[in-house]
Amino acid sequence: MSWQHRLHSKLQQRRDQHLWRQRSVLNSPQDAHVDCNGETLVNFCSNDYLGLAASGGEDLATAARRWQFGSGASHLVCGHSRAHHALEDALAELTGYPRALLFSTGYMANIGAISALAQRGDRVIQDKLNHASLLDGAILSRADLQRFRHADYEHLADLLNKDDARGETLVVSDSLFSMDGDLADVPQLSRLCEQTGSLLMIDDAHGFGVLGENGGGVREHFGLTTQQLPVYVGTLGKALGGYGAFVAGSNDLIDYLIQFARPYIYTTALPPAVAEAMLGNLERLKDNARRQQLKARIQQFRSGAEQMHLPLMDSHSPIQPLLIGESAKAISVSNELRTRGLWVSAIRPPTVPEGSARLRVTLSAAHSDDDVKRLLDALSAIWQNDNTLPRASEQVL
Ligand code: PMP
Repeated sequence: MSWQHRLHSKLQQRRDQHLWRQRSVLNSPQDAHVDCNGETLVNFCSNDYLGLAASGGEDLATAARRWQFGSGASHLVCGHSRAHHALEDALAELTGYPRALLFSTGYMANIGAISALAQRGDRVIQDKLNHASLLDGAILSRADLQRFRHADYEHLADLLNKDDARGETLVVSDSLFSMDGDLADVPQLSRLCEQTGSLLMIDDAHGFGVLGENGGGVREHFGLTTQQLPVYVGTLGKALGGYGAFVAGSNDLIDYLIQFARPYIYTTALPPAVAEAMLGNLERLKDNARRQQLKARIQQFRSGAEQMHLPLMDSHSPIQPLLIGESAKAISVSNELRTRGLWVSAIRPPTVPEGSARLRVTLSAAHSDDDVKRLLDALSAIWQNDNTLPRASEQVL
């Protein structure tokens, strides 16, 4: 098969299966209300859980006057500035770890940490619903990749007890799962790792800023020590409303990553002004009022959706998916919402398992009571007009 033929046939397959992915063009800053392709939409698809993406512009402008634009090089050559360093210190302080190391994105932090920590002959054991970057990191490491059924810690224990590794074992899980919104039992993961001498890494991309009284993330939420959760990953592009990511851990862990994590070593450092501007949003993130506001919106959405018997999933986080099943159906509801000025993305395979396409509603502290009411009213009308849509009592899986 020629290259041209392969590209063409794979693209056609995507279209035929209703899995075609496309981008929408924003003409306004990321916020609860956006101008998208000329339409004003209430935005229920971003990961801007605390509404901080639209803050910090002034901080960025001030920082840019001081640092100008580019970092000019990778961290280990000459791109590591006082601004990066200060942000690492502030992230370590908020998450309660001795040190933190900045990466350009969460994707890179995950592939960087896993591929540096695990080697050929080791095992990386992951939750089946872990984010793509965690799976890619394991593949890159050349260790043996094993997966346990989602949140099934007995299955994990079985794998751990098989002890078929020649080397070490790294256990990796998301905290809040990005497409289901449920929370991993991190204390249980930690106990299993302690009992079997395995290393635990948690990707808290969706929990950092959202979980914990001070937004310190999943470790603060569960009251775990840093030894109980030794490798912690957070992103700056979601609740913190900016860009970048970090790994937090012990002095040795951070020194090790600086020496061996290739996605840290061989890439240009973030613009220093971006790093400095993140400090302003980090202060805003500590304000618990935003988390309270977010909590109120989550409760409002869930109780409204429960009353209407919408197919909610078991999530108490800002990620509130409605499980639809068929991709074509999920797209048609998403399109219908869009005509009513509401933006909710349809998530389809391969991002989620076959037959479990869903509407991924994400809530933010920037949403008003009225925004959520509009969404609930629209969903109510759509469900009333189409009795083929799944209801809460029906299993689509
Ligand atoms: N981990 C999870 C669970 C995510 O959802 C994402 C982003 N979709 C990432 C990591 C990657 O983070 P970033 O967007 O900063 O690359």
